[in-house]
Amino acid sequence: MSVSDKLTHTFRAGMGGSLSQLIWYALLACGVWLFFYILFRSHYQTRRIGRNNPLPNQIPREILCSFRSIVLFGIVTAGVVYAAYSGWTRLYVEVDEYGWGWFAGSIVLMIILHDAYFYWTHRLMHHRRLYRWMHHTHHRSINPTPWAAYAFSPAEAFVQAGIGPLVVFIMPVHPAAFSAFMIWQITFNVFGHCGYEIYPQWFLKSRLGMLLNSVTHHTLHHENFHSNFGLYFNVWDRILKTNHPDYEPRFELATRKLPNSDDMR
Ligand SMILES: [Zn+2]
Ligand SMILES: [Zn+2]
Repeated sequence: MSVSDKLTHTFRAGMGGSLSQLIWYALLACGVWLFFYILFRSHYQTRRIGRNNPLPNQIPREILCSFRSIVLFGIVTAGVVYAAYSGWTRLYVEVDEYGWGWFAGSIVLMIILHDAYFYWTHRLMHHRRLYRWMHHTHHRSINPTPWAAYAFSPAEAFVQAGIGPLVVFIMPVHPAAFSAFMIWQITFNVFGHCGYEIYPQWFLKSRLGMLLNSVTHHTLHHENFHSNFGLYFNVWDRILKTNHPDYEPRFELATRKLPNSDDMR
């Protein structure tokens, strides 16, 4: 393939990647926002985790920063596509090449890798030499809304986008498997920033709750900065003892049943 053909495909893929992320992110964040903050606001009042409401200009700022992040993600996607057309990545197009077992397994592996990548880059960005210019933008949302999920500084947006190149350079990945991973990633992130606990009360004491992070977990990170660095799984925080000491009580508080909770339905 000629260089000009590669550049044309690269441009289209960058635009397509950004557009599909934008559509899924905007639809989901909009839906979650409407559900919790407008339509069922009073019904889910007890599930609100943060003690305050979002600041007046917070949501427009989160939306603008998220839009900028998605444009930057598109540049990274374009770079990956150029590398793929040049034969430098391990992307493959025929599912039969590795089979459906690997197709499904690669999605799980990408999620596990991303969880580790996020924990360590996140902790690094909290270092006092990096925090202000890399991670402060995201932490301006003390009480995050669904729109905070991608509200990053440009530097952080590139770090967050780094998981894409990382996986396609180190392991065989089918583009559809990568898309499934992205859908999981966006969905988990949008709900993780929604500000309302979505799991039932028994969740945290179950095996699933030992493994998966809740909305309360990440909301506490936005409140106090020094704990709860994990993304999907409560594994790294547990191993490195960085879970917030009030994680369980705050989860209990957000999921408590009021005496008249049946009347609210
Ligand atoms: Zn966050
Ligand atoms: Zn942070």
